[in-house]
Amino acid sequence: MKAPREMDRQIILDHHRRPRHFGVLPEANRVGAGHNPVCGDEVQVMLRVNGNVIEQAGFTAKGCAISVASASLMTSLMQGKTLAEARDLAAKFSTMMQTGEAPAELGESAALQGVHTLHTRVKCASLAWKTLESLLEKGTTQAEA
Ligand code: ZN
Repeated sequence: MKAPREMDRQIILDHHRRPRHFGVLPEANRVGAGHNPVCGDEVQVMLRVNGNVIEQAGFTAKGCAISVASASLMTSLMQGKTLAEARDLAAKFSTMMQTGEAPAELGESAALQGVHTLHTRVKCASLAWKTLESLLEKGTTQAEA
């Protein structure tokens, strides 16, 4: 098992200690809930979408450090993105969880690339992204990582 690089670890710890965009998002018009039964992580992702642009993304979560940090990184990345860009980024994140290769578009979220070697934690890291993907597809929904 390869440990995540030190800088990546610092980013993950920081987003766990001080989650960005945490809390109920006022005027959210798309809401999705996700649950990872393996670890017990729960996340709620909220978006305020105007036209085809995500004006704001927010979340609430109860779970392990990786699941919370990942939701914080995901919502940070999604601010101001179009729905098509959001879908594309979520797909890239999913690929990164399989390959460990991080494309530049993922920005700070690439800090989670090392998780791909820690098989039991992939579901923790993916939960917020899977929840986002399913709510982009269906509007308001329930996802399981
Ligand atoms: Zn977890």
